[in-house]
Amino acid sequence: MSKCRICRNDHTQAFLKLGPTPLANSFLNLDQLNSPEPTYPLDVVFCPACGLVQLDHVVPPTVMFRNYLYVSSTSDTMRSHFAAYAGEVIDRFLTVPDQLVIEFGSNDGCLLREIQKRGARTLGIEPATNLALRATDAGIETLNDFFCLRTATVARERFGPAKVLSGNNVLAHIEDLHDVVKASKAILDPAGVAVFEVPYLAETIRNNEFDTIYHEHLYYFSLKPLMRLFQDGAMRVFDVKRVPVHGGSLRLYVTHAEAPYPLQDSVTRLLAEEESQGLHHSDAYKSFSQNVATLRERLRELLRSLKNKGARIAAYGAPAKGNTLLNHFGIGRETIDFVADRNPLKQGLYTPGTHIPVVPVDRILSEQPDFVLVLAWNFIDEIVLQQCEYLKRGGLFIVPIPTPRVVDESVLERTEAR
Ligand code: ZN
Repeated sequence: MSKCRICRNDHTQAFLKLGPTPLANSFLNLDQLNSPEPTYPLDVVFCPACGLVQLDHVVPPTVMFRNYLYVSSTSDTMRSHFAAYAGEVIDRFLTVPDQLVIEFGSNDGCLLREIQKRGARTLGIEPATNLALRATDAGIETLNDFFCLRTATVARERFGPAKVLSGNNVLAHIEDLHDVVKASKAILDPAGVAVFEVPYLAETIRNNEFDTIYHEHLYYFSLKPLMRLFQDGAMRVFDVKRVPVHGGSLRLYVTHAEAPYPLQDSVTRLLAEEESQGLHHSDAYKSFSQNVATLRERLRELLRSLKNKGARIAAYGAPAKGNTLLNHFGIGRETIDFVADRNPLKQGLYTPGTHIPVVPVDRILSEQPDFVLVLAWNFIDEIVLQQCEYLKRGGLFIVPIPTPRVVDESVLERTEAR
């Protein structure tokens, strides 16, 4: 068992073992289907000393992040999320035009584009070569590198300190969290603010979102261990907010320990909430693991009974999390005819481990399968609107998480009314 990567405690406790699993973003081309697929252990442990939930085994980042298929701008939900995010950051923390905002893990520049539109200077730092090029081509200057103390030092020398540093859905990707804190400290203006978004463990547990567990996500954060992490590096969390993206996330506002930002009530309130939910104790994780086993049985039983009645079933969305669900639940081509996804980079490929073909989304209407299993369940509202014609023709969605439910045409009235 590995040491805790925040507090170095060597008595971490394993609570969920998903076993040897292929990388969730290693979609295969036709030629690769007949070669053996590499798998890596996927086991989750809890540190009772600081509260951090983490993967036991770490896959080298160069294997996972140099060519990356998740593109933020593919989703309408993420585009509008980042537009609102940009507005908030600028109104709250930038005092004059032309101040510098740096984002690491900047993907295709979805957030920075919005920041630029509002008159600030931007710099992206992105390890995936394909995404860094794409952002640069679109006019968003991007260094093609991992975020670490070395890159932060170079970036500060070339571009100056950041008034705002941002890292979204990326902290969980980086093994050496203490180095991220050092890098943040090095690049941030003395009165600057670092804003991080991380999927929130409380939501993962409450909603059975076990499928967000895959090798890229080394950590499943609650607030308490993050407070400890930043404190160890002479920074501090002074505000926190819950945001709805990625199944429920935390937005943390962090600054240098001595910077003039008073601690907000939101921080103490959320810590107390976590304590009362048992998030800092191992029992919560034991029951989570049992809930995942129950979910597995229910979904398999539902799909089995539909197949026995001759139903044709497809899936919507080929997100990384879908592959955790398919692989861990043992659902493959015997059940799912195809996976439809809007991302052209994934179309024409096959899902890792289960080898289901990924096709453009118009296949849903042209084939009108009886059921569509929604693997990208966090975008369900967007998908319902986009696929309203499929539902109107009698198609049915199966939303697997938190517990399997069937969604029919009647959902359209409710979604449009919102
Ligand atoms: Zn720990």
